[in-house]
Amino acid sequence: MRRGDTLVVMSAGSATRSLRALTGAARVRLFIAGLAACVGLLWLGPVHAAHPQIADTSLPWWVIAVLFCAADLCLVHVHLRRDAHSFSMSELALLLGLLFASPAGLIAGQVIGSTLAQVKRGQSRLKIAFNVAQFTLSASLAVLSFHAAAGGVASLGPRAWFAAAVASTVYAATNVICVSIAISLSEGKAQFGRLHLVLSMSLLGGLTNTSLGLVAATVLRYEPSATWLLMVPAAGMYVAYRAYNSEREKHESLEFLYHSTRILNETPEFEQAVLTLLNQARTMFRAETAAIAFVPPGDDSVLLRSAVGCDGETSLMQVVPASSMRVLLDRFGAGATSLLLKAPLEPELMDFLDANGMRDAMVAPLRGETRVVGLIVLGNRLGDVTTFDNEDVRLFETLANHASIALENGRLGQSLAQLQELERQLKHQAFHDPLTGLANRSLFADRVSLALSRIERDPQICGVLFIDLDDFKTVNDTLGHAAGDQLLVAVAHRVLGCLRPGDTGARLGGDEFAVLLEDIAGPEDAARVAARVTHALRLPVQVAGQSVHVRASVGIATSLDVTAADELLRNADLAMYMAKADGKGRFKLFEPSMRAAVVRRHEMKSDLQRATARGDFSVHYQPFHDLSTGRLVAVEALVRWNCPERGMIYPDSFISLAEETGLIISIGRYVLQEACRQAALWQRRFPDEPLSMSVNLSPVQFQQPGLVAMVADSLKASGLRPCSLILEITEGVMLQDSEFTIGVLNDLRSLGVRIAMDDFGTGYSSLSYLRRLPIDILKIAKAFVDGIGEDPGVSAFAQAIVGLGRTLNMQTLAEGIEHPWQARELHALGCELGQGYYFARPMPAIEMERILEARQDELDGTLAEVIAFPA
Ligand code: C2E
Ligand code: MG
Ligand code: MG
Repeated sequence: MRRGDTLVVMSAGSATRSLRALTGAARVRLFIAGLAACVGLLWLGPVHAAHPQIADTSLPWWVIAVLFCAADLCLVHVHLRRDAHSFSMSELALLLGLLFASPAGLIAGQVIGSTLAQVKRGQSRLKIAFNVAQFTLSASLAVLSFHAAAGGVASLGPRAWFAAAVASTVYAATNVICVSIAISLSEGKAQFGRLHLVLSMSLLGGLTNTSLGLVAATVLRYEPSATWLLMVPAAGMYVAYRAYNSEREKHESLEFLYHSTRILNETPEFEQAVLTLLNQARTMFRAETAAIAFVPPGDDSVLLRSAVGCDGETSLMQVVPASSMRVLLDRFGAGATSLLLKAPLEPELMDFLDANGMRDAMVAPLRGETRVVGLIVLGNRLGDVTTFDNEDVRLFETLANHASIALENGRLGQSLAQLQELERQLKHQAFHDPLTGLANRSLFADRVSLALSRIERDPQICGVLFIDLDDFKTVNDTLGHAAGDQLLVAVAHRVLGCLRPGDTGARLGGDEFAVLLEDIAGPEDAARVAARVTHALRLPVQVAGQSVHVRASVGIATSLDVTAADELLRNADLAMYMAKADGKGRFKLFEPSMRAAVVRRHEMKSDLQRATARGDFSVHYQPFHDLSTGRLVAVEALVRWNCPERGMIYPDSFISLAEETGLIISIGRYVLQEACRQAALWQRRFPDEPLSMSVNLSPVQFQQPGLVAMVADSLKASGLRPCSLILEITEGVMLQDSEFTIGVLNDLRSLGVRIAMDDFGTGYSSLSYLRRLPIDILKIAKAFVDGIGEDPGVSAFAQAIVGLGRTLNMQTLAEGIEHPWQARELHALGCELGQGYYFARPMPAIEMERILEARQDELDGTLAEVIAFPA
C-alpha cells in the first residue's frame, strides 16, 4: 500500500482519534462553536424571515429578557435516581415571546436574559457560553416550529395552542440533546443511556409550563388586569417544586450518609473500609479522585494516604510527607470546617490544586477528640462544565463528620497504631540486616558520622572494630547456605554479648561485622573489646547438628587520628586486613604505617605471581627426631621464596597471600613434587634407615578436587613409597568438618600416606572431630612446648595431648623444641617425636644431605661396633 492510501483510509479514524486526544473542555468549546454556527445560519435564514407575532399585543425584548433571567435564576432541580433534572420556567417566557414578541425580540431577550442569569449564578465562562448557545439554538428552532405549526393563524385559539405545544417540545428536546452531547464530549464517553428518561421529564415539565403560559397569555390578551391572579398558582407550583426538591435532596443525602457510615462500621478491614468510603464519595459527588490522609499519632511529619482515581487506580496507606497537605492541615487546625477550592483562590491553595493536578476540590477535616486526625479530599468534578457547589460542600462536610466519628470509635486509633507499627517495621527493615537484626551498613555509617559530630562538640573517643570471619566461605560451601546463615546469626549474638548497651553492632554484608564503641577511654578499651570478641568466637558453634569452629580477624581504629567517618571505617578495615595477613584469628590496632604495609602487600601479590610463573621457590628441610633415641627419622619440607629483590622470604610472609590469590595450588604442587623427589633420592642414597618426608598442605589445596590424584602422581613420578610420605594438615581444614573432608583424608590414607595434624591445640580444637578423622600423628604446637619446664600448667596441657594421642592411637610430635630440657620433659611425658631449633633449623637440601651423611657414618660406626664387639 502506498503512503497516500494509508492516509486516505485512516483519515476518518484519525479524526475520531484526534477528537479523543483533545481535553473535555476543548471538545465542549468545539461543540459551542458548532452551535453558534447553526444559530448564525438559522438567524440569517428562516428565523429572520419568520412572521413577527400572532397577536396584536406587543412585548418589547427587555420584558422577554427579564422573564428569561427570572426563570433561569429560579431553577428547580428535580433528582431522579442519580440524575438531576433542572426545570426552569423559561417555557413561560418562551411562550409569551412567541405569541407577543418579534422573533428578533424573543432571541435577543433569551440571549441577554439567560446570560445575565448565568453570570449572576457565578457560572464558568465555558458554561455560560454553552448555555447561551444552546438556548439560542432551541429558541430559534422553537420559533421556526411554532410558525410552521401555527400556519399563519394570527389568533390565540386551539391552532396557536397546538403550535405552542410543538414549539415547547422542540425547545425542551433541543436543550436536552445539547446538554447530553456536551456531557458526553466533556467526559469522553457517550452519556445517552438515560436520555429517554431526561427527555420525558423535560417534555412533561415543558408542557406543564406551556399550559400555564397559554393560560397566562389568554388572560394577558383578554383580561390583562387578571394577570396578577396567575401569580398565585405560579408561585404555588414553584414552592411545591422547591419543597419536593429539598425533601428529595435530604433523602438522598441521608441515604448516602447512612451507607457511608455503615461501610465504615461494618467493613472489618480498616483499609478496605476507607477505600469503599472513598469510592462511594467519588461516585456521589462525581469527583475524579478521592483521597483520605491520616496524621499518625505522635508524628506529624508524615501522612498515611489512601486514594482512588478515575480508572480504579488505588493506593493504600502510603507514607507521604505531611508538607504536601500542610496548608490544609494548618487551616483545619485553626478551626476551618471545610474548604471549597476553585479559582479564584489564594496562591498557596492554588499551589495545592496545581501540585495535585486538580482544577477544583472539596476538602474536609477528620476530627478526633483532641486533634485533626486527617482529612478527606475530593478532586476534579467530572465534566468540564460543572463544579462543586456549596450544597456539595455541606453534604461532604457532614460525610467527613460521620467518617470521623465512625473512624474514631476505637477503630481509627487502633488501625493507626497498627499502621505506625508497620511503618516502624519498614523503617527497621531499611536500616537493619534482616538475617541478624543488627544495624546494616548504612545505619552503621550514619551512627559513626553522628558519633564523630558529637565528638566535635564534646571531646571524647570512639572506636570502630571491623570483624571478618576467617574461612567462612568454606562453611557456606560445605555445609550449605542455611548452615552459613545459622552461623552468622550465632556470631551476631556473640558479638552483641561482648558489647555495652550503648554500643552498635552491625553486619556490613557477607561475613563482615562491625562495632561502634562510643565514649571509650582510649585504644586499649577498644582492644579489650576486640579480645573479648575474638575469644567469644573461638568456642564452637552448633550449626546443622554439627559443631563448627569459627575464627575472626578484627581491625581496630579510633577517632584519635581521624576527622571523617569514612576515614575511620577505612582505617579499621586496613587494620583488619593486616590482622588477616598476619595469620588470621587475631586483632590489630590501626597504625598509620599499615597504609604502606597494605600497599606493600599489594605489590607483593604481583611479585608472588611473577615468582610462581618463574619458579622462584626452593624447599628447606627440618628434621624430626625420635625423642627416645635422638635419631633423625624424617624431615619436614618448608617452602622458601627466593626473591631477587628482597632476598629469601619466609612462608609466614607469603602463604596467606598465596592462599588469597590461589597461587598456593601451584606452589604447593611444586613443594610436594620437589619433596617427594628429594626424599626418594635420599632414600636411595641412604637406604639403611629410610627417611620419611613431611609436606604441609594448605586448607585451600585441600579444597581442590584433584588433590588425591596429585599426591598419587607425585609419589609415582618420584618413586617414593607412600608410607614414607606424611601430609600435614592444619586445624583450619577441620572448619569443614564434613563428609567431604573425611572422604579426602581417607582417600589419601588409602594411598598409603600418613596424615599429621599440624600445630595441634592452637586452632579449632575439638576432640569430637579428632576421633572421626584418620590422623596418624599429632604435632603439638610450639605454644605448648615453649613453657615446658617453667610452667606446670603448660606441661599438663602437653601431657594431655600426648595422652589423647595415645588413646586415639596416634603418634605425638612436639614442635619448636629449643632447649634440651624441653626434649627431656616431653620424652618423659611420653611424646615420641620432636622438632625444633634445638635439633636443627630448617636448611637447604645440600646441608641436610651433610647431616644425613653424618647420620649414615654414625650408623655405619654403630654397626662396626656391633660387629667388632658382639654383645
Ligand atoms: P609449620 O608447618 O608449623 O612449620 C614449622 C615452622 O616453625 C617453620 O617455620 C619452622 O622454621 C618453625 N620452627 C621450627 N622449629 C622452631 C623452633 O624451635 N623455634 C621457632 N621459633 N620456630 C621453629 P617456617 O618455615 O617459617 O614455616 C612457617 C609455616 O609456614 C609452617 O609452619 C607452615 O605452616 C607454613 N609452610 C611452610 N612451608 C609450607 C608449604 O610448603 N606449604 C604450606 N601450605 N605451608 C607451608
Ligand atoms: Mg608443618
Ligand atoms: Mg607446625
